[in-house]
Parts: sequence; C-alpha cells; structure tokens
Amino acid sequence: MSRNARPDLKHDTKRRWTAAAAGSALALGTCLVPLAAAPAVALPPESHCGTEPGNNNDGFVNHAQLTRSLDRIESTSGGEVDVEVAGHSNQGREIYTARVGHGDTVVLVESQIHGNENHGTEALLDLLGFWGGNSPAAAAIRDEVTIVAVPRLNVDGGERDTRQNEMTWEDAVAEFPQLEGSAPAWNYNANVQGFDINRDYHPDLDYVPDPADFPGNSADTGWYITPEAQTLREVYRGLEGEFGTVDYFVDLHNQWSCYATEDMENMSPLSISARFIADPTEFGDWPKFDYDHSRRANVAVYEALQDRGEAGFGDITLYPQDTNLPGTALGAFALRGSATVLFETSSQTQYDGMKRNGMLRKQIEIGLGGLVESVADGSIDGLDPASYEDIPERVFLPAD
Ligand SMILES: [Zn+2]
Repeated sequence: MSRNARPDLKHDTKRRWTAAAAGSALALGTCLVPLAAAPAVALPPESHCGTEPGNNNDGFVNHAQLTRSLDRIESTSGGEVDVEVAGHSNQGREIYTARVGHGDTVVLVESQIHGNENHGTEALLDLLGFWGGNSPAAAAIRDEVTIVAVPRLNVDGGERDTRQNEMTWEDAVAEFPQLEGSAPAWNYNANVQGFDINRDYHPDLDYVPDPADFPGNSADTGWYITPEAQTLREVYRGLEGEFGTVDYFVDLHNQWSCYATEDMENMSPLSISARFIADPTEFGDWPKFDYDHSRRANVAVYEALQDRGEAGFGDITLYPQDTNLPGTALGAFALRGSATVLFETSSQTQYDGMKRNGMLRKQIEIGLGGLVESVADGSIDGLDPASYEDIPERVFLPAD
C-alpha cells in the first residue's frame, strides 16, 4: 500500500539515497554494540537487490487455479473449510471467502487488494490447508478462533498484474449517477483505467458517494465505489453482526524490494504496522478504536518471526508510522474497533516475479500463523503493546 503513503520512487530517488546514507552513518555508530546482540545475518544490506524486469509470474495461481485450489482445500478438509462466493469483481469474476473454525474470536484476513501483490494469496492457500487439517494444533485453533480469509480481493487486477482493479470512471458514474460532472476520484488512474481499491473505504459502512466529497485525497475517507470494496464491506458487516466486533483484521500487501533494518545490519524482507489513523476523533465518534490492541497483534507477528531469526525471518521492520489513511481498509476497520495488522512483504511482481517466492510466502505463514495461534491460546492478551515501539524502522535502499 506504499505508493500514496510515500513519495513515488521515480520522483524521489535523491531523498531516498539520502535516507539510505543517513542509515549508513547510523550503522557506523552501532559498530560498538557487541556482535553477540545481532541475530545471524541473513541478507546483508549490500546484497544485490535488483529490479530486473521480465521475471515470470507463472508460479502464482491465476484466477482459474485459485478457484480450483479453494475447491480442493474445501473438499480435502472434509467441510472444515467452507468456501463461498462473497461477491463479484467489476469484470464479473468471483471473489471468495474461505471460513474455518468455530471460535468466538474472529480474524478477518485478506490478500491482494492490490493485484500485483501475490505472496499473501499463496500463503493463505497454504494456511487454509493447515487450519482445515486434522492436526491437534489445527483442531485447537478451530475451537477458539473463526478465521475468514478473502484470498485475492482484487481478482481483476490479479489477472492483469496491476495494482488497480479494472473499472473506468464511466463505470462508476453509471453506478452512481450523482457523480456525473464530478472530478474523478483521486484514487482513479485514467491510464490504467482502474481504482486503487485500498483507498475506497469509509468507517461508516452506509456511506453513499457524495459529489461534494470528490475528488478527495489520501488523508480523507473513501467511497465504496468499487464492487471489490463493497464485497469486503459486506463480509465485514456480516461478521460484525455475528460477532459484535470484528476482533482482528489483517491485510497482506507487498512493497518495494529493497529495505534494510534501521541498524543497516540486514535486509528487511517484511515491514508491519498497527498505525493507520493519526487521530480517530478527526473522523467522528469511534469508541471501539483500540490502538493498543493493534499494537499487541503486531507484536505477536513480530515475536512469531523472531523465533525463526536464525533462518532469516527475524529482520522485521515497521512500515512508516507518520501515516493517516482513513480510506484504506485497515484505517476504516481500525476505527470500527478491529485490531489491525499490515503485512508489507518484499517484492511486487513487476519487480521480482517469482524471486524468493518460497521464503516470502513462508514468512507470511509464520507471522500470520503465529498471530492466530496467540489469539487461540490467549497469549496475545499478555503482550505489552509498548514493545511495538522497539521494532526497528525500515531504511530504503535503491536498487543496485
Ligand atoms: Zn499494497
């Protein structure tokens, strides 16, 4: 989700170089820290991080394969995983939910709201197989937690490998005639002819697009213009009706390939975040907003991956914390009371294709799987939200 939270790469290379240089200076200062404090080096920051184009994406499931995979998971789970069509994309493709477990605590997780961010979908397919399986660990999780996964919300963008969905402004006006004559929404890309779905959310689930609110901007709420955002809204509304509060909402993204940890010791293959709203009172009265709950959930992800630190999974960083994104699914649902977790895995498909696919999907499985386990066994409630502030910040590295 990084594009609008940070300046565009092409236009800000100089500042990013400066940021990397500042990080290097910091690294000099930390040379006095005993080496024993550092985890095993997985990927030093001078590792090659290229953006060679043309890597193939054939190893990621396409829509037909996603459909078949979910069917197979449903049938091999003997009914533990229930796959439904929750809605349809603007181009008429099915958007699925896969539900597993019957606990009183609900975890909603989606992947690929940006169509060119594939790893979360692959990880969800693996995790659904595990959560629906016959191990005692999976059965214990199902007793305590209800997991609802939306693998690849942006099914049209997934097919054409674009961040946006496939929907023209004229499509939107046809659906919402009151927008005739309005400036197109700021999150509409006329070149791609699609919307950034992850700026199409509003904490009021009953919001109706109002011409006075257009074209809007990144620091304001969104619209529920796209059928994809509308579909997730209805899934969320249904779970809120069933559980009272949607306890957890996890959003699986990908980001720029090359970041380092704050100390410049290692490449960071994953950034996470709990923070999407600077001041909840700016957007009305949202009494269930619970930033500490979000911070605990992120600490649970962080700790699950620290346990595998020797294998290179531990170099987790924080996504920029100076964000205010009420039009994102994370921001809107945080206001409604969900503990929110952003995963930003390295590598969007246009940069890297399948490179490091195995490691990157495994990393999500460990982090998200660990979060769900800590919810199931209750250990998440004992985590200190202040530990979140100890997670290092990410440092941008240019491609080499
Ligand atoms: Zn994204």
